[in-house]
Amino acid sequence: MIERPEAVTLAKQVSKTLTGKRIVRAERENSPHKWVFYNREKTEYETLPIGKRIGKVTSLGSQICIELKPGYFQHLGDGGERFALIAPDEKLPKKYHLLWELEDNVRFTVSVAGWGTAKLHDRKQYNDWLKKEQQRLDPVDPSFTYEAFNAMAETYCEACDKPVKAMLTSESPIAGIGNGYLQDILFRAGLHPRKKVRQIRAAQQKKLHTAIRKVLSEAIEQGGRDSEIGLHGNPGRYVCTMDKRAKDTPCPKCNTPIEKINFMGGSCYVCARCQPFD
Ligand SMILES: [Zn+2]
Repeated sequence: MIERPEAVTLAKQVSKTLTGKRIVRAERENSPHKWVFYNREKTEYETLPIGKRIGKVTSLGSQICIELKPGYFQHLGDGGERFALIAPDEKLPKKYHLLWELEDNVRFTVSVAGWGTAKLHDRKQYNDWLKKEQQRLDPVDPSFTYEAFNAMAETYCEACDKPVKAMLTSESPIAGIGNGYLQDILFRAGLHPRKKVRQIRAAQQKKLHTAIRKVLSEAIEQGGRDSEIGLHGNPGRYVCTMDKRAKDTPCPKCNTPIEKINFMGGSCYVCARCQPFD
C-alpha cells in the first residue's frame, strides 16, 4: 500500500521520467475493478487527457497528483497502486486501471491491487481537494514541528477517547501514515497501538513525534519499503523492523519475542516489554 514515503518516491520518479511528455492515447481500464475510485465516465478518461502534457507532479498524504496541462489533474494513490512504464516492444500488464500512451510510444500504466484512487479533477475540483487536504498535517513537511503535532494531539484528545493507532492512521489528522509504517513508529516510540492518546505522557509524545519524523524520512531516503515497487520495477530499500517477518523473532532491543495482534482492522506487531499497554 502506498503511504507517505512511497507517494513521495513515486511522484519524484514520475516527474523525472514523464514531465513534458504529451499523451496521445488514454484508456481507463482493461479489467473493471469496483474498488478503483473514479469520478468520471470511462469516455472522459479516454478523451480529456489526449493532447495534454504532463506538468508538475506532486504528492500529498498517500496520493500522487499529476498535472495534465492545461487544466486537469490526475490523482492516484491511497491504496495498492502499482505504476509501470512499458516500452513500445514490451507487453502490457494483464490488468491495468489506467493507461496513457505518450508521444514516444512508451505506455504509463497503473494497476490497482485492493483499492485505490484514480480521480481526474479539473482545476476547481483540484483546488477544493487541496484546501481539504491541507487541513491535515504533512508528517514530512518542515511545518510538522513538535508544537504543531502536540497542538493537534491535544485537540484530538479532547474530542475523543481513541487509541494512538487511530490518531496516526484511520481518518487521521496526519496525512499518509498507514499500517505499514505505524508498527516501526510505535516501536521506536515505545507505545502500544491500543494506548489511549490522552494517556500519553509529554516525554512519550515527544518520542512519538521524533519517531514519525525519523521513520518517514529514513524511508524516503531509501525509496520506500522493500515490499513496494517503484515506477521502474525496483522495490524500495526500507526494511521494516516490525512487520510480518518479525513475528516470533527476538525484539532487537530486549530479545522478547515479537507478538502479532489484530487491532482496528489490521495486524500489529509489538514487543510487549518495550511497548507496554499500561
Ligand atoms: Zn523489546
